Amino acid sequence: MGKSRKKKKEEAGSETRARIDESEIEDESDEMGWTQVDGGRIKSVEKANNKRKKDNEDDSVAFGLQCISPGTFFRHQRYYTIPTIVQAWRNEQSGIIRELKETGGGLILSGDCRSDSPGHCAKYGSYSLIEDRINKVLDVQLVQSSEVPSSSWCELEGLKRSMQFLMDQDMQVSALITDRNRQVAKWVREKMCSEGTKHFFDVWHIGKSVQKALDAAAKERDCEDLKLWRPAIINHLYWTAASTPTGDPDEMQAKWQSMINHVQDIHEHSSPAFPSCAHPPLEGEARNKEWLEPGTT
Ligand SMILES: [Zn+2]
Repeated sequence: MGKSRKKKKEEAGSETRARIDESEIEDESDEMGWTQVDGGRIKSVEKANNKRKKDNEDDSVAFGLQCISPGTFFRHQRYYTIPTIVQAWRNEQSGIIRELKETGGGLILSGDCRSDSPGHCAKYGSYSLIEDRINKVLDVQLVQSSEVPSSSWCELEGLKRSMQFLMDQDMQVSALITDRNRQVAKWVREKMCSEGTKHFFDVWHIGKSVQKALDAAAKERDCEDLKLWRPAIINHLYWTAASTPTGDPDEMQAKWQSMINHVQDIHEHSSPAFPSCAHPPLEGEARNKEWLEPGTT
């Protein structure tokens, strides 16, 4: 990296001190073996960055500082930093896969996609899968929106790639937990449920949309009492999921719907799957919110 910079400096007749510093940097570079990757490709990059480097050097000289050029920084990043990070991740991932194969049983996976920018015009989506039993990230897939019909398809494509990767590793998925992305739900239903995978929706995402709906309803005229109920209703949603380890859909539905009765001070329900509230009697308890009247919200 240093040679062309040094040469240019000499031609430009920069002050001696700057030249000495420059040659010191070059010597260090050689010791670190940087010149080994100084192939034709890098030289062409250097050429393209010539002007930027020159500006940078001018600044350095003006302040009496030495610093690496942007070109050197990005080259270093591309040839050393990123490959090292990728290698470290691959090693970690192989360790996790080994661990899971020793544990046995089907995988319990939670997956979601993160876009590089919020909204619908993201360029990249990165799909991550966590194995819930060991609470570790099992796979990450990066999808560029130009690879799929539109950026909203990045999520499904990321999931497909992850599943292909796991299939290549001979791993079985017994449960997959995702948000309510429609494309994902359809694909999982058609391609994975038939292979024995159970699909669940993540309670956090459902809780968020219920919360939004409650906030909107509480803004309606004479419905502000509902606002005080919001935390209790969300809590009840989490409880519905947490208190039903079997995942029995009838029981969960009955528990969730019992909330409509509970907020009206009715604690006995018509459903045999959940005939009465699980809380102790509420008489005499200090209350911070009113029971709701039917038809008011
Ligand atoms: Zn109740």
